[in-house]
Amino acid sequence: MLPKVSVGRHGGMSIDVGQYRVLVGDEPIDAIQALARDLAGLRICHVNSTATGGGVAELLARHLPFLHAVGLRADWRLLHGEAEFFTVTKAFHNALQGARHDLTAAERELYLRVNEASARLLETEYDVYIVHDPQPAAVRHFAASRGAKWIWRCHIDSSSPEPSVSGFLAPYLQEYDALVYTMPEFVLPELRGQRAAFIAPAIDPLATKNMELPLDVCRRAIADSGIDVARPLLVQVSRFDPWKDPMGVIRAYRLVKEAVPGVQLALIGGMAGDDPEGWKLLEQVEEEAARDPDLFVFTNLAGVGNMEVNVFQRGADVAIQKSLREGFGLVVSEALWKETPVVAGRAGGIPLQFPAGFDRYLIESVEECAARVLDLLRRPGERGAFGRAGREHVRQRFLLPRLIHDEIRLIRELV
Ligand code: UDP
Repeated sequence: MLPKVSVGRHGGMSIDVGQYRVLVGDEPIDAIQALARDLAGLRICHVNSTATGGGVAELLARHLPFLHAVGLRADWRLLHGEAEFFTVTKAFHNALQGARHDLTAAERELYLRVNEASARLLETEYDVYIVHDPQPAAVRHFAASRGAKWIWRCHIDSSSPEPSVSGFLAPYLQEYDALVYTMPEFVLPELRGQRAAFIAPAIDPLATKNMELPLDVCRRAIADSGIDVARPLLVQVSRFDPWKDPMGVIRAYRLVKEAVPGVQLALIGGMAGDDPEGWKLLEQVEEEAARDPDLFVFTNLAGVGNMEVNVFQRGADVAIQKSLREGFGLVVSEALWKETPVVAGRAGGIPLQFPAGFDRYLIESVEECAARVLDLLRRPGERGAFGRAGREHVRQRFLLPRLIHDEIRLIRELV
């Protein structure tokens, strides 16, 4: 058996679907319940490579309990890989986002071996498999469950992939019944013409990470971590990944500091189980922090969890997400939902999340990032307007019920 991630009622998490009605209205929830009734008895299996760290794990942890709450049978299973495999798949991930990579025979062999072994361990009892990202993409090829429907869910910006890697993966992806991308621009060149759906991710407003918290509690918690809450605070919440450009964030913060000497920066970065590159970058960032009393680094290794992310996203004056490439960037919606203005890289799915009229806070360089942050620090009225417009935009388009609805509608079309 492939390891099953325990969420939902028996894993200690349960969701009351009725609570979403207050936030999104009755219509979307009624539509989900009607679709779920049509699909009663269907067995769904999500497959990915890690239960912690990164947006996919974040999504599934809330997604599964929601499916259970509307009466669907869904499990979440993990690909079974070793550290070396994840080094290869991280290179695949980077290559699909456009990094140069010369695929070697040894890498192909290791990738296929792990996928084949996992496919042999995968239960055949499901009617629909939803396989996330490149790591387990070839499982479908090796799996015995031929009668089931298979969906590949791509979470990354694959608009201009390195051809050696996309060419290698394409035949395995062609075996899927449908591909799901965040936006049409991400369709892999080799797979144009194959059935595709475009479904953006979403955040769960009721999760600990996004639940309402009083601002004075947030400020006290932030003060408790050594930050001076009387001075401005910038925050970026992201894995330590070169595409998230934490060193660029530090450079932008230093430019802001020339004009606003009191400004502070907190970098919050969970380490993902399948991301070996992160450790090197964390070391670099920590070296910078050691020389700067206003630069703070917090990681999940030191106990930073969902509640702390919530507190910092609420308590910051400006959230930064200086991504160079980005599939979606859940953190942007997370911050906007909390009415915190965001300065972010014009990359992948980030612009989708910006409310109309605030595009000027989408940036493409360190200098631009610093200039826009400075604008916001100097204009509290603009911060408030941006935050309110951001929350309403996220409410309409990027909350969990919309994602569940789009996904189960696709499943109903397939089965
Ligand atoms: N995250 C977290 N703690 C951290 C860093 C990130 O909980 O220290 C969460 C973050 O709040 C978001 C997810 O991890 O929910 C990251 O998703 P995103 O789509 O922004 O980026 P990805 O890591 O998938 O590239």
